[in-house]
Amino acid sequence: MPSDGASLLSRQRPARRSQVSESPPPIPLLDLGRQRRHLNGAVEAGIARVLEHGSFIMGPEVFELEARLSAYAGAGHTVSCASGTDALVMALMAVGLRPGDGVLLPSFTFAATAGAVGLLGGVPVFVDIEPETFLLDVARLEGAQREAARRSITCRAVIAVDLFGAPCDYEALATWAQGRQLQVIADAAQSFGASAPSGRVGTLAPLTTTSFFPAKPLGCYGDGGAIFTNDERMAEILRSIRIHGKGRDKYDNVRIGLNGRLDTIQASVLLAKLDVFDEEIASRQRLAERYDRHLHPSVVRPSARAGFSSAWAQYTVRIPQRDRVASGLAAVGVSSAVYYPAPLHLQGAFKTFPRDPAGLAVSEQMASEVLSLPIHPYLTNREQDRVMTELNRLVA
Ligand SMILES: *Cc1c(COP(=O)(O)O)cnc(C)c1O
Repeated sequence: MPSDGASLLSRQRPARRSQVSESPPPIPLLDLGRQRRHLNGAVEAGIARVLEHGSFIMGPEVFELEARLSAYAGAGHTVSCASGTDALVMALMAVGLRPGDGVLLPSFTFAATAGAVGLLGGVPVFVDIEPETFLLDVARLEGAQREAARRSITCRAVIAVDLFGAPCDYEALATWAQGRQLQVIADAAQSFGASAPSGRVGTLAPLTTTSFFPAKPLGCYGDGGAIFTNDERMAEILRSIRIHGKGRDKYDNVRIGLNGRLDTIQASVLLAKLDVFDEEIASRQRLAERYDRHLHPSVVRPSARAGFSSAWAQYTVRIPQRDRVASGLAAVGVSSAVYYPAPLHLQGAFKTFPRDPAGLAVSEQMASEVLSLPIHPYLTNREQDRVMTELNRLVA
């Protein structure tokens, strides 16, 4: 991949110079078209092979993908599935979550993290995050668990979310959860490809879930997901849950399960994209470093823990006058997004569930300050310079 994507651009967008005052083309948050042109027919060839052999469900590409994802992450087992949401539901089923059980999780996350718990009759118990990293504040778990207990809810698991692509401190979390009989699940929907000092995402928690939604760092052309584990027995249970709770085969049902399979066509898309995934992560890392260096000093940058790398699903800054800046950027054709405009504990679907009685002030403040900037791997330096010039002008 050319380091600034220039050759990709010249191929796809013939210059139109007839109008003197023409404004530059808008800069999107994500450009899957550029990625597809860079892959140069590999995706189409992969899909064509599936059309030819016709094994649309659990075809050979599904197993090839699982083997390659295990090797990439360094995980013992990868169980692919139909979405990041199903990955969470399946992981919770595999640890034996029962109706009424509590699950500790951050409030500042995508709805699926808590929705998966509620779907199984479990009770999401909301915990605040750290302002520097946007990640679960381990020091706040105790208070939330005690509040759940006061309401006669026994917490059985904690889901940590690697928000925006950076892994949580799973060692601190494991230390806390030990002896409390709590299962630790990593919601790594945004962080596949990132690492901690001890290893890559997929190996940092006993169960790690991810998503292949098109906008995630590794995305397919539809819905998809996976669960990683080193526990052979857990992997077997997950494979059973994925296909209607099958035992010897799908007409021998040993537990309640679901139809949670990844399509073979989506597996073939992911195989093509895995070939360029490392360069894409490197490109995102380079863009993040350029933002770090050149944004106006008043813009609060995301900070990672020493020794941890991010998959940079998002580059999310904090700006007190966020809404004014976001509309200023939109007016000059620069896309940005607010992930997320409200923490879950304030949303209609979740507002009656327990939370840390000390409050979730950081989650509430972040919702009004965060702004995610374009950071896709095919963003050129020139485009990024324009994003930074416009943003710096608006906050100066
Ligand atoms: C995207 C996402 C999910 C859900 O993934 P889907 O594949 O869309 O079901 C879950 N948790 C987080 C943090 C996410 O960003």
